[in-house]
Amino acid sequence: MMVNRDDRAPTTALMVTDMQSRVIRVNAAFCALTGYASDKIKGCSSSALYVLPEQVCDFASIEAEALKNEGIWTGDVNIRKENGEIMKGVQTTVSTNDKDEGFSHYIHIIETLDTYHQGGYDQNTQLPNRNMFKEMLSQEQANAKRKKFQLGVLFVDIDNFKVINDSLGFARGDLLLGEIANRLKSQLRGNDLIACLGGNQFAVLLPDLVHPEDANIVTMKLMHALEEGIDVAGNDVVVTISTGIVIFPGDGEDSETLLKHAERSMYKAKEEGGNNYQFYKASIQHSASNRLSLESEMRKAIEREEFVLHYQPQINTNNGRVVGMEALIRWQHPVRGMVAPYHFISVAEETGMIVPIGDWVLLEACRQNRAWHDGGLKNLKVAVNLSARQFSDRHLLEKVENALQVSGLDVELLELEITESVIMKDIEGTIALLEKLAAMGLTLAIDDFGTGYSSLSYLKRFPINKLKIDKSFIDDVMTNEDDATIAEAIIGLSHNLKLDVICEGVEDEDQFNWLQARSCNEIQGYYFSKPLPADAFEAFVRERNALF
Ligand code: C2E
Ligand code: MG
Ligand code: MG
Repeated sequence: MMVNRDDRAPTTALMVTDMQSRVIRVNAAFCALTGYASDKIKGCSSSALYVLPEQVCDFASIEAEALKNEGIWTGDVNIRKENGEIMKGVQTTVSTNDKDEGFSHYIHIIETLDTYHQGGYDQNTQLPNRNMFKEMLSQEQANAKRKKFQLGVLFVDIDNFKVINDSLGFARGDLLLGEIANRLKSQLRGNDLIACLGGNQFAVLLPDLVHPEDANIVTMKLMHALEEGIDVAGNDVVVTISTGIVIFPGDGEDSETLLKHAERSMYKAKEEGGNNYQFYKASIQHSASNRLSLESEMRKAIEREEFVLHYQPQINTNNGRVVGMEALIRWQHPVRGMVAPYHFISVAEETGMIVPIGDWVLLEACRQNRAWHDGGLKNLKVAVNLSARQFSDRHLLEKVENALQVSGLDVELLELEITESVIMKDIEGTIALLEKLAAMGLTLAIDDFGTGYSSLSYLKRFPINKLKIDKSFIDDVMTNEDDATIAEAIIGLSHNLKLDVICEGVEDEDQFNWLQARSCNEIQGYYFSKPLPADAFEAFVRERNALF
């Protein structure tokens, strides 16, 4: 929920005020947006910030509205920046904290839709231009540093474009570039960003790469997308590309250097004949080719029954009981030993292998939960992760129905986890699909909430039941005010939207107490238990639920 991605997604600024409209806390995005230093705005009346369309807002009335309206108010306001400038039409959500705790503060969630719409686009392709790309890359770098993510940047150059362009003429050359841009774009995921750097060069930003090597899988998809000829006014034109790849952190500190190094690697790919890619670092180039062998091993793994599921308990904070579990896949590799999903899920996702693997996971999780139910561990809900590919699988609904039917599991005991970034990819399509799933009666949860780019204003429209706060917010919740503010805002908002909220990655008592004090409904994390093999999980539940 932080940065503009697909040209429209929001930047989320947060402000917390007390019941007298005095600012208690703001986050970094808020300061960047408004120009106010955090120290300066604290203690001020928040009404200084807001101007409703056509009038200066009586801010207290919005908060009063929120109180009246089940604790939540959403609307467009105009905001006055520190320098006096007015930003118009800013989508704002004001919500109170949970009623049950006694009202103590308001949370203002401010989402700007058009911060970048000022000359930031390439005229021909309608993609973000170089300046905008650099700006967004810088923001993503800051985000990645804080959250310890890795980013990839691809510098893509069309081979021999000058020759092609000269023979087609400029106008047709532009058409060709437009079509190339479309094809490249069609290969990217919701959170990826593509820009046109000018001329025949594109840049792609891959946020939160699990493995640097995965950048080459995306690169190959881009190359593949251009293999079929492009029709330009009756001419069948085939183009190839050369790509240079840099990884942050590691290949450059600032956006300028990263782009320069990516460009240099692109030229190296050209020197080797073009239609090719090069990582800036030779060591990554090497392990990238190694990883490709994983793919063929994975194909065999299903047949050889090398995958197993582990289960991590989810504990109700009110009564301390295990109420459900998340099914997490493991690969028992004959040579490599137990392989964690970190090492293969992203490859499986990129190559499409995740679909058959995911089908197996769904069925196995349902089967196991039904077996537990029959064996006396009644009414535990099993949560299954759905990847982007599975979510866009046309047969998803049938597959879910089939898994329930074959296993005999009650639909109310199945939960599906979908990450925030997957949900935001195609909002209308997502809503339609989620509605069908919800109609079946299962539980829908948004996984890794807070790391993606969902607009909170859309959240209301999704028929979801649960938000799962990402581990990265809870890690530093005791020490980092920004993270605490976000976690608190998410919990408060969930309650106002009548959603359950679960926090994952809870490792110690302090974190647990913090969450319990804020009425976070459920907790999952090493503090209670690591993911366990089925028999160990069963023993854990029997022991714990006998006590609570
Ligand atoms: P996720 O769905 O967000 O799962 C939570 C991850 O956090 C799990 O890692 C879990 O073991 C780990 N975790 C839970 N509590 C703690 C804690 O207190 N501290 C720490 N450090 N870690 C904790 P795991 O099992 O390695 O899975 C990683 C990711 O792989 C999952 O993230 C999910 O995105 C993906 N994944 C796992 N199984 C499947 C699957 O069956 N299908 C799909 N599509 N993805 C899966
Ligand atoms: Mg999950
Ligand atoms: Mg998660």
